[in-house]
Amino acid sequence: MRIYLDHNATTPVDPAVADAVCRVVTHAFGNPSSAHAFGQQAKSIVDTARSQVAALLGGRPTDVVFTSGGTESDNLAIRGAAELLAARDRRHLITTGIEHEAVLHTVRSLERLGWRTTILGVDERGIVDPEALREALADDTGLVSVMHANNEIGTIQPIAELAALAHQRGALFHTDAVQTVGKIPVDVASLETDLLSLSGHKLNAPKGIGALWIKRGVRLGPQLTGGRHERGRRAGTENVPGCVGLGLACERAAAKLATEATRLADLRDRLEGGILARVSRTAVNGEPTTRVPNTTNISFDGVEAESLLIALDLDGVAVSTGSACSSGTLEPSHVLRAMGLSPHRAQNAIRFSLGAGNTAEEIDHVVGLLPAIVEKLRALTHAGTRTSA
Ligand code: PLP
Repeated sequence: MRIYLDHNATTPVDPAVADAVCRVVTHAFGNPSSAHAFGQQAKSIVDTARSQVAALLGGRPTDVVFTSGGTESDNLAIRGAAELLAARDRRHLITTGIEHEAVLHTVRSLERLGWRTTILGVDERGIVDPEALREALADDTGLVSVMHANNEIGTIQPIAELAALAHQRGALFHTDAVQTVGKIPVDVASLETDLLSLSGHKLNAPKGIGALWIKRGVRLGPQLTGGRHERGRRAGTENVPGCVGLGLACERAAAKLATEATRLADLRDRLEGGILARVSRTAVNGEPTTRVPNTTNISFDGVEAESLLIALDLDGVAVSTGSACSSGTLEPSHVLRAMGLSPHRAQNAIRFSLGAGNTAEEIDHVVGLLPAIVEKLRALTHAGTRTSA
């Protein structure tokens, strides 16, 4: 039995989406920019997909720009905005310490190019304090970028409130909604955002396709230059099969949004409750209520998360750690550290992220496996500590 509980990393492609993508690969090879029938067929396919994406966001199709994924959408939003804002002497960027690297590293690279940056902290629940943003905003602030939900802990930020503060000071607002689109209702108007990133492979579409929603009237410097594709905002022949996959995945997510969110929240709570009840010295990281329905992040005291991940993998269960392994050294997760968790607790954290295929039987199986695995690892750690002491 193989159980996949790592849907925040990537999701399996929905079979109906895979079919649609394959049909386009085989039968609709035209270039959407070509004037002939083959091109127009491809263009109409891309237009339909754009409408499907826009419908899920409550936005207008013309405001959706297809990209290669979440990373490119974040880069286009931040670099594209920064480029034009610099000309208006707004060279200050604000983001948070818990963003995905696609945002954090982009902001840091602009810092190296001369932009002033502020990285906001979060509280122990992983939430940004609007007061902290209010204080950080200045006359030269051009853009504020705050993720909708965090990929490691699932915590949802008060985006509309933060966006309103940014707007009061004349700054643009971007949100990385890669971990919310398709999981909870995401409505660009109620979020009051100017820019919103999403990624296909997080919502059962293939990898290599994503989108940036750009509010009407907001201008960005294109980061890929060339032809006039995507209304001059992103050059390059469109990934037609990818667009179809993303469009259909959005339509299918919209149709089952409420029921699937409830189903996943029930399963997640069953998993979380089961672990807390059956495995001693465990604690949930992050805000327990305001979070996406599929995610829980749990620290197992006295257990190295990497060892637990490997042990679970050997038993057929795929999860992820709250820690990232960079250049051979185990770095505690920047998200958990930003929340003020001790390095020890951050290094003991496992992320479980559920998705479409998961069942109650799978959850019960995982809850049943964990006590013995954790006990064994704790005994090994304890023995190791005694030997090395
Ligand atoms: N932003 C967040 C919050 C993510 O979780 C991810 C992927 O893990 C990305 C951006 C990057 O998306 P992609 O893999 O499509 O480039």
